[in-house]
Amino acid sequence: MLNIEENKVLAPYTSFNIGGLARYFIEVNDEHEAREAISWAKHKNLEILVIGQGSNMLLPDEDFSGLVIKNNIKGIKEESLDNNYIIIEAGSGEIWDDIVKYSVEKKYWGLENLSYIPGTIGAAPVQNIGAYGVELKDVFYSLRAINYDSLETEIFAKHECNFAYRSSIFKKQLKNKIFITSVSLQVSQEANPQLDYGSLHEVIKKDVYELEPSDISKAIVEIRKNKLPEPQEWGNSGSFFQNPEITKDHFEKLKAKYPDIKYYNLDNGLIKVPAGWLIETAGWKGKSLGKAGVWGKQALILINLGGASSKDIKKLAERIIEDVKEKFDIELTPEVNIY
Ligand code: FAD
Ligand code: NAP
Repeated sequence: MLNIEENKVLAPYTSFNIGGLARYFIEVNDEHEAREAISWAKHKNLEILVIGQGSNMLLPDEDFSGLVIKNNIKGIKEESLDNNYIIIEAGSGEIWDDIVKYSVEKKYWGLENLSYIPGTIGAAPVQNIGAYGVELKDVFYSLRAINYDSLETEIFAKHECNFAYRSSIFKKQLKNKIFITSVSLQVSQEANPQLDYGSLHEVIKKDVYELEPSDISKAIVEIRKNKLPEPQEWGNSGSFFQNPEITKDHFEKLKAKYPDIKYYNLDNGLIKVPAGWLIETAGWKGKSLGKAGVWGKQALILINLGGASSKDIKKLAERIIEDVKEKFDIELTPEVNIY
């Protein structure tokens, strides 16, 4: 028997703490319940919105007329793939950082750079979460998902996921078409520290051969806690925009005007310019517009100053996009899923 609630306030289910009512709402605890809920919505011709921890979405102030499925599917198991690799399979409603802690405590390598990222493991493949030089795709093995049309379970191997920078087939072609029920990750027992990112190697004082995954994890948690707003205190969805990639010509013009510009050369010949640097240089760091603000320690993060609406955040985002376009001739693209 499905426990469907009506007219549920969605704001507390998102890290922005923003969102109107859901006409229908259900929490699912296993694959069977998820399939039943999807089938119920299909019969009523309702749109489906899946919420994990709501930490990468900006919901509208208006009510949502479909079914919101809050994912609580739990469970962790592991098996050896060979002498080195371990496969960790987790129910998609498991908290991502709990899986990182599980892996780090067992001294497995692979997840430590992705410590302290909010959200469920089920959402991690959607935007191919990334931080400190590692992306989900680097540890991804496969996932299981229910197809809304067929109600069948499908398995996606890595090569079928179209993983790219903060993107995947689940954020593009399969958006609102499947429900991810479990994710399998491939971690390693052999040491494989990734310290190339920024000043990570300076923060970690030990010699590389002495390192354990927990050393890297601890350092990253500390950096993140110092720099990023805790959503319980300041509603936010992490980086609001993607880092733009521009051509060498475009970059040279900007470099002539802004000699201190931050940049990273990419394998595809383009140049990545941190969106946070652009927004800060345009003068927005720490500024606000009504109840929406720009985080004072990282300008890429937009925050709910208290009681902000979706419109407030969108208005601030639009003003920033216009300003960055005018100053740098770069069009910022949101990373957050905006509904
Ligand atoms: P939600 O916000 O609930 O959902 C995101 C999208 O995925 C939605 O479109 C939703 O419908 C869909 N979805 C969710 N679950 C499923 C499912 N089971 N099946 C199908 N679709 C699903 N991201 C990074 O990449 N790197 C970071 O370092 C990082 N740092 C952050 C720091 C802060 C303070 C915050 C607030 C966010 C940060 N993020 C970061 C963004 C966010 O943590 C990730 O995108 C995370 O994976 C979102 O998980 P979630 O469960 O909250 O997803
Ligand atoms: P940061 O260290 O201040 O760096 C700013 C930007 O420079 C980052 O966006 C990063 O790109 C890029 N960068 C730094 N060193 C790099 C290197 N060696 N090679 C290539 N690019 C490099 O960033 P931060 O805000 O404190 O975040 C730290 C990490 O956590 C970043 O990886 C960031 O993506 C991640 N993070 C993500 C979110 C989110 O919501 N998506 C929120 C907070 C933090 P990349 O972003 O491509 O890594």
